[in-house]
Amino acid sequence: MSDKTAATMDKIVNLCKARGIIFPGSEIYGGMGNTWDYGPVGVEIKNNVKRAWWKKFVQESDNSFGVDAAILMNSRVWEASGHTSSFTDPKMDCKECKARFRADNLIENHSKGKVNPDVLSNEEMEAYIAEHKVACPNCGKHNWTPIRTFNLMFETSRGVTDESQNKIYLRPETAQGEFVNFLNVQRTTRAKVPFGIAQIGKAFRNEITPGNFIFRTIEFEQMEHQWFCKEGTDTEFYEEYKKKALEFLLCLGFEREHLRYKDHDKLAHYAKSACDIQYLFPIGWQELNGIHNRTNYDLSRHQEFSGRNMFYLDPVTNEKYIPYVVEYSIGADRLMLAVLCEAYDEETLEGGDTRVVMHFHPAVAAYKAAILPLQKNLSEKAKEVAKQLSKKFMITYDEAGSIGKRYRRQDEIGTPYCITIDFETLDNNTVTVRDRDTMSQIRMDIGELAAFIEKSMEI
Ligand code: ATP
Repeated sequence: MSDKTAATMDKIVNLCKARGIIFPGSEIYGGMGNTWDYGPVGVEIKNNVKRAWWKKFVQESDNSFGVDAAILMNSRVWEASGHTSSFTDPKMDCKECKARFRADNLIENHSKGKVNPDVLSNEEMEAYIAEHKVACPNCGKHNWTPIRTFNLMFETSRGVTDESQNKIYLRPETAQGEFVNFLNVQRTTRAKVPFGIAQIGKAFRNEITPGNFIFRTIEFEQMEHQWFCKEGTDTEFYEEYKKKALEFLLCLGFEREHLRYKDHDKLAHYAKSACDIQYLFPIGWQELNGIHNRTNYDLSRHQEFSGRNMFYLDPVTNEKYIPYVVEYSIGADRLMLAVLCEAYDEETLEGGDTRVVMHFHPAVAAYKAAILPLQKNLSEKAKEVAKQLSKKFMITYDEAGSIGKRYRRQDEIGTPYCITIDFETLDNNTVTVRDRDTMSQIRMDIGELAAFIEKSMEI
C-alpha cells in the first residue's frame, strides 16, 4: 500500500541529507542559514530537471533561442527595470526579540490566507497588524517597529575602491539578460516576431524570511522564457503559456490535483495579466511558477535608459513596433523541491515491511539504472555492463550488502531500474531488470537494455 501523502518537509530534508541529494551549506563551519549544496545524487536530478525544461522550451519550441547572460550587469539595467527603486519587501522588526518579518507574511498567516496583503498599502498593513494585535511568531509579544521597505538586491562593488559609482548588484532575476539581448538574438538568428528567448541561471535575493528548505533561498536558479510578440496577439500567447507551463509539469509526472492556477489579485502597474501555478507542497499551496503579460514595458524602459532603439521592423508589413512580452518564470530549486515532494512515497509491503521510494520520472532520476552483481565473483561481468551503459546514461554500481538492501537504497534515490547480474548472465547474456515502482522483474538480453531505458526516459 502506498502513502504519497506521507511527505513532510523534515522527512524530505533528512532523506536528502542521508542520500547525497542536498546538504546544508558550509556545514563544517556550523552552516550558513538557508544555503544548500547539491550532492552527487542531487546535482544529477537538478541537471535533469533543467534539461527537461530546456528540451520543452528551447529544443522542441519553434522559434525559441537560449542565452547565458552575465550575472553582473551594468547598474543602469536595474534602474531601467525598476529594481533599484521598487524591488522591496515590507519588513517589520519585533522590538522585544529583534526578530525580523515581512508584514505581508504576518498578515497572511494571521488571517489564515483570508486576507490578501498584496492589495494593501504599507499603512493598511500596519493598521491591520495593530488592530488584530498580530503577535511576533518568535516571542509572542506585540511590539512592532513601523514598516520599512527593504531592497532585496545584494550589492557589491567592482574595482579596488568602494565608491558608490562602483556599486553593482548580483542579479535578482535572469529576465533582464534576455531583454537586453533582444535585438542581438533577433538579428543573429534572423528570428521573426513572435519568438522566444530562454535562460537558466543563478539569481540572488536578500530575502527577509528565507526558509522551508530550498523553497525560498537567497541564492537560487531560475528558468525564464520571454516570448516577444505583437500587441494584440499577447493575450492568446499568455493563455498558451499558461497551458504549456502546466503541461510541462504534467509530463514530469505531477498529478493534476496537486497543481492549480492562481490569478494575481494585484497587478504590477505595467502588467496586463499575471498568474501563478501553485503546487500543493507539504507546507500548503505555494507558488511554483509565474506567467506574466508584461506588455512592452521592459523593452520600452531599456530603450529609454540605454538610448538604444528597441524597435522591431516587420520585414513583411514594414511596421515598426516594440514587442509585448509574455514571461514564464520558474525556479529550478523550487521545482526540484516539488519534484522531491511529488515523488516521495512510503509503501507498506506484504509482510509488514515499509520502503521509502521516490517515484521520479526516469528522465529526472539521478541514475537510470543500478548494476548489481548477485555475488562479488560476478563483478567483472557486472562492471562490463555498467561501462557499456554509462556511455549513454548515468549509471550506478553497487556490490555491497544483500540484494534486498541494495534495492532499498536505490528505491530511496529513485533509480527506476535495478539490473542484476547472476550466473545465468554468464551463460546466455541475460539479466533481470527490476522495476522500482512495481518491484516486478523481467529477464532481458543485455543488448536490449539501452533501448529499453531510453524509451522509459521520453517526456
Ligand atoms: P515569491 O512570491 O515566492 O517570493 P516571486 O513572485 O517573487 O516569488 P518571481 O520573481 O516571479 O517570484 O520569480 C519566479 C520564480 O522564481 C518563482 O515562481 C519561484 O519559483 C522562483 N523563486 C523566486 N524567489 C525565490 C527564492 N527566494 N528562492 C527560490 N526560488 C525562488
